Amino acid sequence: MKDLVCDGCSLLCDDVKAEYKEGELKSLGLCRLGHECLEVALKRNESKSSIRKSGKSVSASLDEAVAAAAKILREAKRPLVYGWTRSTNDAIKVGLDIAASCKAFFDTQASLGALRAFSSELHDMNIDYTLDDARNNAEVVIYWGSNPTESSHRHVSRFSVLPKGERIPEGVESRAVVVVDVRETETMKIANHRLVIPFGSDADIMRAISGELTGTSSIVEEVAGIPAVELISLTNKLKNSDSTVFFYGSGLFASGYASENLMALKELIESIRKNGRAAHAMPVASDTNTIGAMQTLNGSTGFPSAVDYSTGSASNSEGQNMHSLLLGERFDAALVVGSDIVATLPGELGACMSSLPLIYIGPPDGLTPSRATVFIPAGSNMVLTEETMLRVDQEPIQLIPFHKDGNGQLSETEVLRRLLHAVRVRD
Ligand code: SF4
Repeated sequence: MKDLVCDGCSLLCDDVKAEYKEGELKSLGLCRLGHECLEVALKRNESKSSIRKSGKSVSASLDEAVAAAAKILREAKRPLVYGWTRSTNDAIKVGLDIAASCKAFFDTQASLGALRAFSSELHDMNIDYTLDDARNNAEVVIYWGSNPTESSHRHVSRFSVLPKGERIPEGVESRAVVVVDVRETETMKIANHRLVIPFGSDADIMRAISGELTGTSSIVEEVAGIPAVELISLTNKLKNSDSTVFFYGSGLFASGYASENLMALKELIESIRKNGRAAHAMPVASDTNTIGAMQTLNGSTGFPSAVDYSTGSASNSEGQNMHSLLLGERFDAALVVGSDIVATLPGELGACMSSLPLIYIGPPDGLTPSRATVFIPAGSNMVLTEETMLRVDQEPIQLIPFHKDGNGQLSETEVLRRLLHAVRVRD
């Protein structure tokens, strides 16, 4: 069996192996999702580029499709360059060069929610904490608004709950697992302590626990309908734990109270630390390279999202974001890379995107290839490349090419390099 790195989710598992012989895949260590991702990538037939002409999608050579895409980008007055949370950092850098060359607006799909986590003060106070630290030290593990059992399958088994660690001699027996969410989730099945809370009450509950921890206020009877006895029991767990980690997810961003929730979580962590106990927080992100997309953009331009090249250099205007510009019909073409945006963008945004001359570079699965004006297939990063992504805790992980032929498909990065060349060389 060969070593590989799975890019099925943002854990980027690099402790897995697989063998592919005569159309059959055997794997060791991959979860169901990872095995399926690899199998789909390996069994994918070579797919052709296509160009939409008179409403019909017709097959085209790679060179024809690249030329057509470059023409759309060169002729656009205000193109959007978007996607990237499933792309490698190397591909994102080429994408930035394309955006600069055609004076585009560049954004990543992380700006839909995960950006809040990255750009908050909460992020700054947890910058050096890794998943390995959680495995080695975390006595209390709290999933708040996240459901890794369905989105990051090996989170629990590889890092946060089941494994033994330097200070966790008995693995799961040495930890307490708490899950807080607005509904019953799969992850709740492994929890010692489950809290199903009303929608929008996260910050109130966090602040109540903070007050109880620091002695500045007391929980009497209930908070947001949660009985005091449950919250005080959780507070006592936090008081007695040498190390607590919060894994927070989209539940904190999707409620419309993202800033308030992140601020309340920051206060809660500070309250635990004031008690002389260690506490940290880390997001649970489902898209493979969500953190890498924000970091690469930030490192290259100084902004983690919404970079505007319309003046010839990178800028970021307060209040400008891709979603409001897209809804305001401010773009006249779009290049989307790696993300099936027609399937995943919320309704109105997806419809606006589909109405533009749309270039899509990525895997042939999903709705976006069939709606694109120009579609250029790219092979799986997990199969083809030795490029780099960032794990959800910001650890750089270099991919290992598993099957370099990749069914005759080029990598995203190689397709983007050809597109960059075509955009720069005018015909
Ligand atoms: S947890 Fe994620 S990265 Fe790890 S094997 Fe499963 S899908 Fe792949």
